[in-house]
Amino acid sequence: MPYLTPPEDLGSLFPEEPAYRVRQLRRWLYRTPVLTADAMTSLPAALRPRLEPLWPFAVEAEQAGDRGSTVKWLLRAPDGASYEAVLMAYPRRTTLCLSSQAGCAMGCSFCATGQFGFERHLQAGEMVAQAAYAAARLRARPLPGGPDRLGNVVFMGMGEPLANYENLREALRRLVEEMGLSGRAITVSTVGVIPGMLRLAAEPWPVTLALSLHAADDDTRAALVPLARRYPIDDLVEAARRFSAGRGRRVTLEWTLISGVNDTPEQARGLAAIAVELRAHANVIPLNPTPASRHRAPPPERVRAFVEQVRRAGANVTQRDTRGRGIDAACGQLRSRRAEETP
Ligand code: SF4
Repeated sequence: MPYLTPPEDLGSLFPEEPAYRVRQLRRWLYRTPVLTADAMTSLPAALRPRLEPLWPFAVEAEQAGDRGSTVKWLLRAPDGASYEAVLMAYPRRTTLCLSSQAGCAMGCSFCATGQFGFERHLQAGEMVAQAAYAAARLRARPLPGGPDRLGNVVFMGMGEPLANYENLREALRRLVEEMGLSGRAITVSTVGVIPGMLRLAAEPWPVTLALSLHAADDDTRAALVPLARRYPIDDLVEAARRFSAGRGRRVTLEWTLISGVNDTPEQARGLAAIAVELRAHANVIPLNPTPASRHRAPPPERVRAFVEQVRRAGANVTQRDTRGRGIDAACGQLRSRRAEETP
């Protein structure tokens, strides 16, 4: 599984091969990924089988939705850990939402992954392999309505990336330096792990930080995000301000809109105030409800009214679509369903 070896150490896997051969392999893995080692046509036929299994996961299930423009994979590591990735095509870009952990320890009350619990951290190679697999898949078979190149990577799948910092850092390094993605094309999402936010601010890549705020007061937030008991909103806002103070760094505020919880005019004003203070863009996403959760999305007219209240209060805000509603595309949903189906 060559993605589990740092690219600089690939030569140690094939000590008898000349350096140029290892450079060719490195290119196949990161710059022009392909779905099978057999498609690495510049490598000798005898070497290619030794690269199998190429991927550090098996694709256990694939679901397509939105007329084929959204594809979701349930991935299974050899040790049994499972995690998910979702590829979404838009007219000008194709975006991969990848996982940083199998499961998640954060326990957010509206999230299928949080309800499932924590399995283990993903290695850097397991994260970057999700991006390479998506890029290979796009080159072989583009999604309808989108480009055949991977444009954006968002760490918004399973897991809290900043709770797996060293692996996240190495994955970011490989995405930028090996795969050639721009730092600006990468978004790291967090529910507010302040030490990780501050470390990320010091890294050389201008990634975007997506802060999952979800509520404008500490009590409401703590009911949704248990971590909020450790990090109050005032401290989060200060950490976000320090993050965006670095050149070229952007912060977005993510707000999963939940009926009767955080869709009130008071919450809209609170979100707007924080967004204005941070000069951050707010993304409002109606909840993609999970079967086991008591939470529900507000009706469409209430979603529109909430977004309008935020806008009227002076903030930049966008209502995001919930891609893949028909295919369990919110993080953790496909895995939960498979677990229910497995006797
Ligand atoms: S919303 Fe994110 S941080 Fe919270 S439980 Fe789900 S995966 Fe973990």
